Amino acid sequence: MKIIQVLTLFFVITGCDYFSPKTSNSKLNSTIYVCSKCETILYDEKDMLYQNETSKDFSKSISEKVTYNPNSISNKEKLFCKKCNMEIGNYIKSDSINSNGRHCIDKNSIILKKILK
Ligand SMILES: [Zn+2]
Repeated sequence: MKIIQVLTLFFVITGCDYFSPKTSNSKLNSTIYVCSKCETILYDEKDMLYQNETSKDFSKSISEKVTYNPNSISNKEKLFCKKCNMEIGNYIKSDSINSNGRHCIDKNSIILKKILK
């Protein structure tokens, strides 16, 4: 009986420790990229594949804010901002970096912005 009481006490104590209130930070910073001409939100940093000195590559744009010719037989298509029609980079259909296509965006065409959610 004594062993059971000790074990029960042990579980109650450790159990209480797990219920300590956790301070959750709901104000997470979100980094987005906007068109340098019309400031339309085009890309989310979480979709960025990689970057170099001249360009940033994204797996996808935010809710179809960019446009390109989907019927092209070429592997590389010019990408435009849907709102202001500025050329922002190239859409590469498939290559060794990403077989599902990627958006290769000129660094001068987009501006980084941090927003509080
Ligand atoms: Zn634009």
